[in-house]
Amino acid sequence: MDSKFKYGMLAGLAAALAVVPVKAYFYKPEKISGEALPDEKVNLDRFRKNLSDAIKIPTIASKDPAKTDWAPFEEFAGFLEERYPLIHKNLELLDVDCKGPRLYRWKGKDSSLDAIALLSHQDVVPISDGTLGDWTHPPFEGVDDGEFIWGRGALDMKNHLIAVMESVEDLLEEGFVPERDVYICLGHNEEVMTSEFSGAVVMCDYFEKNNIRLDCVLDEGGAILPVNVKGVLNKNLAGVGVAEKGYADFEISVTAKGGHSSQAPNHTALGHLADIIKDIENHQFDAELSPMMMQLFDKIGRNCSYPVRLVTCNLKLLKPLITKVMTYIPPAASLIRTTQGVTMASGSPAPNVLPQKASVNVNVRIYPGETIEDVTKHLRKVIKNKKAEINVKPGWKNPSRISPTDSRSFRIIEEICMGMNSDNIVAPYLVMGGTDACHYERVCENIYRYSPFLVNTGLLLTTHGTNERIPVSSMSDGVAFFKRFIRKASEK
Ligand SMILES: [Zn+2]
Repeated sequence: MDSKFKYGMLAGLAAALAVVPVKAYFYKPEKISGEALPDEKVNLDRFRKNLSDAIKIPTIASKDPAKTDWAPFEEFAGFLEERYPLIHKNLELLDVDCKGPRLYRWKGKDSSLDAIALLSHQDVVPISDGTLGDWTHPPFEGVDDGEFIWGRGALDMKNHLIAVMESVEDLLEEGFVPERDVYICLGHNEEVMTSEFSGAVVMCDYFEKNNIRLDCVLDEGGAILPVNVKGVLNKNLAGVGVAEKGYADFEISVTAKGGHSSQAPNHTALGHLADIIKDIENHQFDAELSPMMMQLFDKIGRNCSYPVRLVTCNLKLLKPLITKVMTYIPPAASLIRTTQGVTMASGSPAPNVLPQKASVNVNVRIYPGETIEDVTKHLRKVIKNKKAEINVKPGWKNPSRISPTDSRSFRIIEEICMGMNSDNIVAPYLVMGGTDACHYERVCENIYRYSPFLVNTGLLLTTHGTNERIPVSSMSDGVAFFKRFIRKASEK
């Protein structure tokens, strides 16, 4: 390298480094117009009592409607009617010709405008076998010990459902009339995910048949998560789910002659499968930091302390490095690519029998932008063994679309959230599990998955698990958020 060039390079590098401190100084959260909001009237005592009583009704759905115990759902319907008299007097409960879902229409001043929809599901997951005794308070007693309300559904998602009902009942009491129509869509079998009988699909059919377009849909999703990393970040991360991953199970099998294992060939069906598994695992799906993830990192990066911002302000430059590092950390990798996990395996039924068929299950979570066809193509390409049979099992679903972050409704969520607490960082994120929301893509472009409750990670992990509970301290803000959201989002 000639010395002129070398000095030129060094001078360039020095200049670039000199700029970084300045860049980091100005790399701060963008100003959101969400000024501090005035207090919102919330009847916390009523919310506590109603959530606690809602938990007492074990609304557990079955995949097969004929096997569902409908009595708790009927009881839950009666409970809602009794506790929310103004809703049942002023809103229309629409006939969707299906047992289970409850679809309410709150007529606005101008029904020709695109409506807004608030989604919740009434059903909860059952208690896993053998874990009942591990609960501090029984899961269907709705114990309120002053600090927490305990029980199945306290976080997923009777808290959200009851908060929506509380906010609408309050707004009616205050004489509020929305500009647009507001729909409350209560599914009844979200947790069993059978699109064939899905309550969400039935309600969406209703919208489609009646030519009703939705301006926005708000469903369960990210909560407000306190993030406290000393010297780095001390804020709350409010993740608004703008997309959800798809889901598929593939059966990959090899058939063979079988016979007695005392005369085994060099490779049995299971032996061939071993090769196949290696092919799959050695060829992971491509990873990419999508614009959605870049936006998430940018929002977090801007809120970090100055020394950390010296690094995060160069996010674009660091993109390849971050992507690489993330692929080595499974939870992080799941945010940037389609994931695959080889899960169940089966071979022969006895130790001395050669398998006539051996198979494995590959569980795939599909990244938004890819499809089931892309995944099938990928598997066919990477599996070299000609004996492999690749079949997708029923029940798969493509990922959702990605909702925009520059829509009116996203801005409203952001403004309210920041207005309620300036320490909140509102960022788009990717939902790993499924929600009812994706079914609404037929009638809506702006679909957001967000539960406005401040809940730490430890508590979030009790969702679907033992000791599910919600902190009472997070409840008022939940109702306040929905009241503000309905007022603002239903404006012209
Ligand atoms: Zn849920």
